[in-house]
Amino acid sequence: MLSEVQLFIGGEWRGTRETLPILNPATEKVIGTLAVAEAADLEDAITAASEGFRIWSRTAPAQRAAVILRAAQLMRARQEEIARSITLENGKPISEARLEVIRGCEFFEWDAGEAVRLYGRVIPSAPGIRYVVMHEPVGPVAAFAPWNFPMSQPARKIAGAIAAGCSIIIKAAEETPTGVTHIARAFADAGLPKGVLNLVFGVPATISEYLIPRPEIRAIAFTGSTAVGKHLTELAARAMKPALMELGGHAPVIVAEDADPVAAGLACATRKYRNSGQVCTSPTRFFVHESLYRPFTEAFLEKARSIRVGDGMDPDTQMGPVANHRRVDALEALTADAEAKGARLLCGGKRLNREGYFFPPTVLADLPDEADVLKTEPFGPLAIINPVGSLDEAIGYANSLPYGLAAYGFTNSAATVDRMMQEIEAGNLSINTLEASVAETPFGGVKESGLGREGGAEGLHHYTVVKNVSLKIA
Ligand code: NAD
Repeated sequence: MLSEVQLFIGGEWRGTRETLPILNPATEKVIGTLAVAEAADLEDAITAASEGFRIWSRTAPAQRAAVILRAAQLMRARQEEIARSITLENGKPISEARLEVIRGCEFFEWDAGEAVRLYGRVIPSAPGIRYVVMHEPVGPVAAFAPWNFPMSQPARKIAGAIAAGCSIIIKAAEETPTGVTHIARAFADAGLPKGVLNLVFGVPATISEYLIPRPEIRAIAFTGSTAVGKHLTELAARAMKPALMELGGHAPVIVAEDADPVAAGLACATRKYRNSGQVCTSPTRFFVHESLYRPFTEAFLEKARSIRVGDGMDPDTQMGPVANHRRVDALEALTADAEAKGARLLCGGKRLNREGYFFPPTVLADLPDEADVLKTEPFGPLAIINPVGSLDEAIGYANSLPYGLAAYGFTNSAATVDRMMQEIEAGNLSINTLEASVAETPFGGVKESGLGREGGAEGLHHYTVVKNVSLKIA
């Protein structure tokens, strides 16, 4: 059971009159309550973030880094407690929740290192004049994080913002509020000044429409669907604010004719069902050279069928439920549509007949071009496998959607690697591996998958502005 999850504003925890229930997706039972912010709370958060920014932006970068590293150390020490609350509210296997906590800590640790390396430059100039380029923290940030990684998604945004010297008001997902709560607790214990990190929850549209236009807020960051991302980008544009957008994907995987089909099939199926497939980089559209189609599909299917589905708190569980009933309905509808149009359903496809939002590992093969799921991101444990006759055809399919977040390739040919690197439209391309991003690499999309990058040396850019100083020496 989780307790009451409160807002965190100006360094104080705050309950509210109105609350929302928090459900365990494995049981559909209420496991806690969540405070719902009203306008007065949001107003207080803006005031707190403005004051937090005044203090934090003038704090030495090395001191900022030390606070971030202390908080990360506390979260590492609290790994088990945090992981259990993530599994209760999100459903993922406890082993995956433990890894998520470590990943979140790695984001903080990397960005702490970047805080002290936000170098500017001196531009060569004529005698008597100096041009100095500085990277300054942009100001208070409004950020919005989704439910698929309750701790590591907010961690990315909080890490970038506060490492750069900004304050932040973050609204994490109402379905999964505790991951971010543990972050706030660790930072409070690590000595972060009040008002630098503020948490609010409530009605998502009400909060974004309140915060984004406010002049005190200087930058926006969002992870979620492309539809909501476009709406928030419009709100930000009206107020001329930079907006970091990590949006949907529909990741293609090309298995070229020289790859090892069995090893690739096994690796792909293992990765596909991680977090019940609810990952924006989840490998989903498999385009397999026709000569390898059969062994690849058989290896994939064997793994998919072997996955133990259950409550994430059970240590034997390999895949938990999906996050909510919306996802179950969407997955069932996409599967039925594909089958009706002639695809072969090789496993799964229907919700499990038990309590909880359970949808099994599902594989569809030989899909016609008209199947909705070839264009719509399923965001769940659903894989689609089609044969292709050539690399040209595979790359054509890979690039055919308006998305471009993650893409994957399997090959043993240097020439094929080169073509994949040149021709695939994606912010993150992984070849012979299914790891799409780590703390030290930049992550983000092209086309409608988003704007800007999180992580890597690029990760702090969104939270800074460039100031050029021209100095005339008398
Ligand atoms: P959604 O876009 O409605 O919600 C995603 C997040 O955005 C949630 O936390 C929600 O609270 C928030 N949100 C929704 N409307 C908002 C608004 N007006 N202002 C501020 N925040 C708002 O999608 P969903 O149904 O919860 O999830 C399904 C889709 O979301 C998937 O198809 C997937 O594309 C996308 N998604 C992407 C990621 C990612 O990592 N890129 C993560 C989670 C979900």
